Amino acid sequence: MKVLKFGGSSVKTPERIKQIARIIARKTKATDRLFVVFSAYGGITDQLVRMGNQAAAGNLDYKNSFSDLESRHLEAARQLLTLQSQTDALTQIKIRLNELEEILHGVFLVKELTPKTLDYIMSFGERLAAYTINELFVDRGLDSVFVDTRNIIYTGNEFGRAKIRYKQTNNNIISLAESNRKVYVVTGFIGSTVNQETTTIGRGGSDFTASIFGAALNVDEIEIWTDVNGVLTADPGKVEHAFSIRNLSYEEAMELSHFGARVIYPPTMQPALDREIPIKVLNTLNPDFGGTVISKESGTAGHLIKGMSAIDDACLLQIQGSGMIGVAGIAQRIFNALASHDINIILISQASSEHSICLAVMPEYATQAKKAVEHELRYELRDKQVNEVKIEKDMAILAIVGENMRKTTGIAGKIFNAMGRNGINIVAIAQGSSELNISMVLSKFDETKAMNALHDTFFLSENKSIHLFLMGTGLIGSEFVNRVRNQASRLAQTQHLSVKIIGIANSRKMIFDKAGIDTEKWDERLAGSKSKTNLNIFLKKMIECNLPNSVFIDCTANEEIPMRYADILSANISIATPNKIANSISYEMYQHLQEKARKHNVQFLYETNVGAALPIINTIQDLIASGDRITRLEGVLSGTLSYVFNTFTGEKPFSHVIRQAQELGYTEPDPREDLNGMDVARKLLILLREAGYPYEPDDIRIEKLISPDTEAAPSVSQAYRQLEKQDHVYSAKLESAKQV
Ligand code: ADP
Ligand code: ASP
Ligand code: MG
Repeated sequence: MKVLKFGGSSVKTPERIKQIARIIARKTKATDRLFVVFSAYGGITDQLVRMGNQAAAGNLDYKNSFSDLESRHLEAARQLLTLQSQTDALTQIKIRLNELEEILHGVFLVKELTPKTLDYIMSFGERLAAYTINELFVDRGLDSVFVDTRNIIYTGNEFGRAKIRYKQTNNNIISLAESNRKVYVVTGFIGSTVNQETTTIGRGGSDFTASIFGAALNVDEIEIWTDVNGVLTADPGKVEHAFSIRNLSYEEAMELSHFGARVIYPPTMQPALDREIPIKVLNTLNPDFGGTVISKESGTAGHLIKGMSAIDDACLLQIQGSGMIGVAGIAQRIFNALASHDINIILISQASSEHSICLAVMPEYATQAKKAVEHELRYELRDKQVNEVKIEKDMAILAIVGENMRKTTGIAGKIFNAMGRNGINIVAIAQGSSELNISMVLSKFDETKAMNALHDTFFLSENKSIHLFLMGTGLIGSEFVNRVRNQASRLAQTQHLSVKIIGIANSRKMIFDKAGIDTEKWDERLAGSKSKTNLNIFLKKMIECNLPNSVFIDCTANEEIPMRYADILSANISIATPNKIANSISYEMYQHLQEKARKHNVQFLYETNVGAALPIINTIQDLIASGDRITRLEGVLSGTLSYVFNTFTGEKPFSHVIRQAQELGYTEPDPREDLNGMDVARKLLILLREAGYPYEPDDIRIEKLISPDTEAAPSVSQAYRQLEKQDHVYSAKLESAKQV
């Protein structure tokens, strides 16, 4: 005997349903009896809820939605069933749809949608799907029967999330099994009260139906078939590197699903746990995949944690006041007040000063929760022992889960470190006493970034992603992209680094791609971009991407961009740049940027400011850090000038030598930058500052290699003309130098 469940995602299209028919046909060969639980076709339950709400609001759009729903069901039956069985089946489906239409009309007339009526409306999804699928199985020659669980699963009358009456339900399931059919096609999610009123057992509840059946029949295993490879370390829609978990304990699965991993509905675990029946989560789209086994055993995964999940939208209630310190029973009164309004508390955190209590609730309960607590504490409020209850909206709750955490120290440290490095503020944190779960409240805006940062920290510490934003695609910028491309596989293999370029801009255009820009075709894409470069927009987009381990690469010689470095570092984005401007303006600015980087725990890297690719700055920093004092610096500070002086032998005029140097790519785009000594002065200044001397630009005496006329020329070509006029001066200097 086996119990299987196929979710809405598995029965989204007739093609997928046909694939399930093949899986079931194969299974009937190996098993005597199969109980197959089905959800409504993917998206139908949401649509039914929407229609109910529209009708209650007097919005006639519900009729269009109903027509869509009607055609989807009729069309599915046409595609799935043979012509002979279609006639009957389509009539049956029509009868049910007419009934649904009448109820919706009723809701439209009375302008009210009670939880009871909503449950009835939702039940059509599962009833229509399971009915049709059973007809398909019969068509395919299986000894299959349709089971409407409203006759089997008895519940209380808590519509929307009804409690199971296990005694009667289990008896019903056992008697059903006595009918000895090969396949039972069972409606998930629905049940009924003893008065035959239709109930539902919570959104996502078909998983639970399967577990109830499995436990009642004491099967060896419950199979939950969905559209992903089992339970993953995190929601694959949010965390790109998420991977399948082989084994989970019931408790771990419960914690993960309770905090948002919708792959399995939390109450599903209880009936299975009571009878120690393993639950296997499998993939309809990849039937050969082994799946995740949820059982008593947590299994050995080798990682500190098993997985993480998140509740996307929550509100935080802050209850504060001096009157709470040392007073026993306040927390209990708050919890009772919320419980009496059926408000579920997701997370509680109290500081040891007892001055404040933080509670997280779902947003739809926030206002009601505030009122309930304020009513309970009305006398304390009146006497100013407690302040008005504050609500913080747009929060997310992120939980990391794993049995291994019990035995391990330093987990919280790792979390804070990862969050701090990425500039994510943790508003509240709570750890269950079982140490199976650490949950934290943070802004919704940071949720995906936080999940990815934590996932990297706990699972892929050996496998990090770095996200780059490049400005400047001249000689250095394009060579940089080439290097990223050529080194990608080596970096992945040896350093376990995945480097992605997310944004590129040159002086004209810019492009962004959160999935990473193709480093082969980036220049074509940039040339074809419709977005004109705008520094403010580039930086805004970069910050809005909110990706962990973001680095801004400034490959320009621009003077405006360095003025924004402080903002970039404050947004917890590292900077790597060959641009010397920022470090060679005032000493105050140089210090300020170092300070910002330190404060925000990011890197400000400028090794290529001096000495091209040689590790000079790093070496000086190490020497200084280890207590050495630098008394003399000696070197060729300009490759350009070195080339020029080595090549200027007198054979060719000076201006010609400069042109040649420029053509070879040895000069700045404007060679005057090299000749006016500024470039060398900047390098000197940076070296001195690194060596611990707080010099200012004015402290450097420069003997310029060009005349004021050349320097003042309005364009590079005009500057060359001026330079040519001076060629005889340079030749004379050369001659007199030769005499020395
Ligand atoms: P079904 O229709 O089969 O019940 P659901 O949509 O309810 O499927 O659940 C499966 C979905 O859950 C996946 O497609 C995935 O997007 C989402 N999900 C969220 N967290 C996880 C996780 N940790 N592991 C696997 N899937 C997850
Ligand atoms: N169809 C129901 C829902 O969407 C039950 C389920 O999918 O498990 O919530
Ligand atoms: Mg589900």
